[in-house]
Amino acid sequence: MSRDPSSGILLVLSAPTGGGKTTIARRLAARDPLVRFSVSHTTRSARPGEKDGVDYHFVERDAFRAMAARGEFLEWAEVHDHEYGTHRSEWKRAAAEGRDLILDIDVQGGLQVKKAEPGCLLVFILPPSLQVLLDRLGRRAGERGFDLRRRLETALVELELAGSYDYNVINEDLDGAVDAVAVILASARLRPRACTARVDELRREITHWLRSTNVHSG
Ligand code: 5GP
Repeated sequence: MSRDPSSGILLVLSAPTGGGKTTIARRLAARDPLVRFSVSHTTRSARPGEKDGVDYHFVERDAFRAMAARGEFLEWAEVHDHEYGTHRSEWKRAAAEGRDLILDIDVQGGLQVKKAEPGCLLVFILPPSLQVLLDRLGRRAGERGFDLRRRLETALVELELAGSYDYNVINEDLDGAVDAVAVILASARLRPRACTARVDELRREITHWLRSTNVHSG
């Protein structure tokens, strides 16, 4: 289905660490050509296997702060002692390509995006239980500097904000969660704001037809 070029959707996914949001966002972007995954800037260093420009744009703290001071970020936040931000060019590029942009960011960032772009969609991914969350965090516990207690304390604060989001998706199984987010996106693509150019064009065409065609009703 064709779409208005200016109707791009900003879809924010947030979750406590281990919620699975990165995988969900990546899978959705991989299966829907109209979705672009937003690659954030960060001051943390790359983990083994991570690629600059693919997983993150890895930058020095000074460079990050200078970009923030110039207002180049749509949102940015400090998470676990490192800075993370969504560069405005990500959104511009997606809009130019006629694609939606999916952001995998923390709750502080999500709320900033809502303020800047009220038409965005905030989706909070919930782990189905503490046990599942612990299992998922346990798998990452080998990471250097990983602190389970600190992650859970952060999760507690983040969960308080789940209610401020537009949607909550329980990540019981990955395929189901990806499908749920795809449904949210599909319904957002049917909002009137996504169709204003089409409506305007139809109105212009009907007006033109009425003026130029000599057909009388009755
Ligand atoms: P990690 O270092 O494990 O990749 O990410 C840590 C946290 O930072 C995750 O909750 C992740 O979603 C969040 N994050 C990643 N990129 C951004 C961003 O651009 N902005 C904000 N606010 N948070 C981000």
